[in-house]
Amino acid sequence: MDNWIKKQAALAPTRAAVVDKEKTISFAQLAEYTDKLGRKLAGLDALNNKRIAILTNNSLAGYLTAMGVLNAGHTIVWLNRRLSASELNYQLNDSQVDVCLYEDQLDASQLSCRTISFSELDSASEKSFAPQQVFAAKDAASIMYTSGTTGRPKGVIQTFGNHFSSATASALNLGVTPADEWLCTVPIFHISGFSIMMRGLIYGMTVRLVSHFDAAKIQQILVNEPVTMISVVPFMLKKLLTIKQETGAQYQKRFRGMLLGGGPIDQATLKQCEQLQLPVIQSYGMTETCSQIVALSFADAAKHIGSSGKPLFLTQLRLDQNTQEIQLKTPALSPGYLGKQEKYVAKITTDGWFKTGDIGHFDKDGFLYVHGRSDDMIISGGENIFPDEVESAYAKCPFLEDIAVLGVADDKREQKPIAFVIPNEQTLLAQDLIDYGRQHLAHYKVPKNFYLVKQLPHNASGKLQRFKLRERLTSGQVKELQ
Ligand code: ATP
Ligand code: MG
Repeated sequence: MDNWIKKQAALAPTRAAVVDKEKTISFAQLAEYTDKLGRKLAGLDALNNKRIAILTNNSLAGYLTAMGVLNAGHTIVWLNRRLSASELNYQLNDSQVDVCLYEDQLDASQLSCRTISFSELDSASEKSFAPQQVFAAKDAASIMYTSGTTGRPKGVIQTFGNHFSSATASALNLGVTPADEWLCTVPIFHISGFSIMMRGLIYGMTVRLVSHFDAAKIQQILVNEPVTMISVVPFMLKKLLTIKQETGAQYQKRFRGMLLGGGPIDQATLKQCEQLQLPVIQSYGMTETCSQIVALSFADAAKHIGSSGKPLFLTQLRLDQNTQEIQLKTPALSPGYLGKQEKYVAKITTDGWFKTGDIGHFDKDGFLYVHGRSDDMIISGGENIFPDEVESAYAKCPFLEDIAVLGVADDKREQKPIAFVIPNEQTLLAQDLIDYGRQHLAHYKVPKNFYLVKQLPHNASGKLQRFKLRERLTSGQVKELQ
């Protein structure tokens, strides 16, 4: 494949490649800028290692730097700006980079490799360099760490071929129009955000960058700007929904839809979307598959509430007959984990399918429903319980602000569900929560003990880190609700 940046500069030179609240950069300007950045990186002698780390917000400078790194034939190592210095140093060491480019406002002072701020890079003198002529399907475009929901993040190698397959499959489902503009407020260091940048390059589509998620500001953009698509994770959808309901705001007519991914969502929220006629497209995917591999189509979105949809073009799915684990084959699948190939190999079945670790089922029409992670599944008295289902049932409980469920060992039933709760009321009793649960769930699914917490641990994507709650419980740091 030709260098995608140069290709779009030839195909759609005047079209906007990227906009933020102040500036618009066309594909022709993008090609010029990325060449200039290559010369500056050469001037700083920063092109010696194939991999270059980037620490940035969803800013124009961050977008341009990432494109410059690809144009210069290097692999981006995406760093998550919300991690601590020691977590970042683990990833820098793991990926063996020796240069990290960082946005000036972010703190890179404790990083263990050479650091170059965007402004330092901007003022560097230029030296000649050779832009990458081809983006070869097998070459690594990016190394991206998983969200770290279940433990230490794994560095996923993502090739140009993986990104191309993913973008193509999404286009075949959602369609592409010349007027498309995709709002990117999900972090570009996660696949939800970076896949928007890659689709932008592959489709010749405008990416609108928004650095921080603020529901009121995003709503304003959806009302005033020519945005057609936005990617959201569940907590963003809930906030956008609330504010839309409160203000009665109408998005632009050309707005086509919200691509929802990253984690489970409760049915009540989806029903609300339907009532407000909010076109939400549910999807399922992971860092290892370079974004969605299963998604609802526009036509099915309202009729199959709760489903993640059907496998997209290029993706084959099957369920393990015994465990109901979702297994897949797709050209978007990463060739491996950096430095942890044994973990990757352990996820490939003898007949070549990737084991996702997620459990699900297909309905009679072939729509996939994701239940949750097999590691989170609670087996109690021979019955399977998924924490997501229990949490979803308590989502509208008036006594609670939030709840998280996990399984612990139990003499009688192998395991039992317990919950961590943030109450709304001081006088709340465990019995109130049990009574509420019994009205909405089978009795065996109702948590047996409730522990009080002030906050629940979430990672940068807003996903609940259950393993951290388990650590708190084993170290006896929590008080039980009586
Ligand atoms: P780690 O692998 O480090 O524990 P992670 O799995 O959360 O982190 P990601 O690759 O960002 O990292 O997330 C992919 C996972 O998110 C999927 O394997 C699945 O468990 C969950 N997920 C994604 N989409 C959905 C969905 N629609 N419904 C339920 N779960 C989902
Ligand atoms: Mg994972």
